[in-house]
Amino acid sequence: MLTDTPGLHHVTGIVGDGQAAIDFYAGVLGLDLSALTVNFEDVLQHHLYFGDERGSPGTVYTCFPDPHADPGRIGTPQVASVAFAVPDGSLEYWRARLESFDVAVEGPSERFGEQALEFRDPSGTRLELVAASDGDGREAAEPTDESSRLEATIPDAASIRELHGVSLLSANPYATAGTLETLGFDAVGEEGDRVRYRASGSRATVVDVLARDAPFGREGPGTIHHVAVRVPDEEQLHEWRELFADRNHDVSRVKDRHLFHSLYVREPGGILFELATETDGVAVEDSPSEPSLYLPEWFEPDRELIESQLPELTGPKPEPNGSDSNNR
Ligand code: ZN
Repeated sequence: MLTDTPGLHHVTGIVGDGQAAIDFYAGVLGLDLSALTVNFEDVLQHHLYFGDERGSPGTVYTCFPDPHADPGRIGTPQVASVAFAVPDGSLEYWRARLESFDVAVEGPSERFGEQALEFRDPSGTRLELVAASDGDGREAAEPTDESSRLEATIPDAASIRELHGVSLLSANPYATAGTLETLGFDAVGEEGDRVRYRASGSRATVVDVLARDAPFGREGPGTIHHVAVRVPDEEQLHEWRELFADRNHDVSRVKDRHLFHSLYVREPGGILFELATETDGVAVEDSPSEPSLYLPEWFEPDRELIESQLPELTGPKPEPNGSDSNNR
C-alpha cells in the first residue's frame, strides 16, 4: 500500500571543486560533513554528503564535484534553487556571516509569509535560507559583534535546521504538479509565478513549482542534479516503480545506495526525482575535521586504486575566510 511521502530526503547538486564545497557547506553554512564517499556509478568521482549530526533524511544536501566540467546553466527542466530552514530572527546573523566570507546576499524577500535570503555557493548553485518558525520554542538569535562572531561557531539559535524545500523550473508545470500530487504533495498556495506544494511530514516539506520562462538548463557545476523524497521502506519503492512504469515514465530499477535504497524517475515535466528510503541517518564520518574516504564493502578491495585517482580532500579550513575571493 503506497503512502504519501512525508517530505524531501536529500537534494543532490554538481559542484566544481570538492574542497571549495566542503569549505562552504561545512565551514560557512555549518553543516556536518556526513559522508565523504564516491559516486557509486563512477568511483573516480567523489560524493559529498552534508546534513545534521546524524545525516537525517530531510537535512541532507549532497554533491558530486566535477572540477574539469564546464559550468552548468540553471534552466528548464531543473531544480532551480535549494532552501535551508533557519530559525526565525536569524537572517541578519546569516547576512553578516555570508558577507564576511564575500558571499553576495540578496533579500530578505518575503514569500508565503516567510523571509528568505538568496545567495550562491562557490560553483554558482542557487541557495536560500528561509526563516521558518519551527515551533520548538527556541529564542531568536542575538546579533553578536563582529569579532566574536568570526571566532565563534554558528550559535545554536541560528544554525540550519533542515532542508526547507526546493524550487522547480519544470518543462511542463502541469505535469510536474501531477507528479507531486501522485507523491503526496498538496497545492497550498500561489504567489506570483510560484505555486507551493507541501508534503504532510514535519520537515523538508516544501516544493515550489515556478511558472516562468527560462532557457534550457545544462547539467554541470552550479546546477542541481535531482531531488529525493522520503519513502518508508524498500517494499514501497517496488510499488512506486510499478506505478511509474505503468504510466510509461522513465524509471530506474530499485538501487542499493548502501546508505539507503532508492529509485529514480524522470517525470514528464523533465525533473529527475529520486525516491529514497527513510533511515536513522546517513552519517558515517566521525571525524569531520579530518575526513577519510568511506567506501561500501564492495569497493573496499579497490580502495588503494580509487584513492590514488581522487583529489585529496580535507575538513573545512578554519574560518574566517573572507579574504579568499576565489571562493565567491
Ligand atoms: Zn540522490
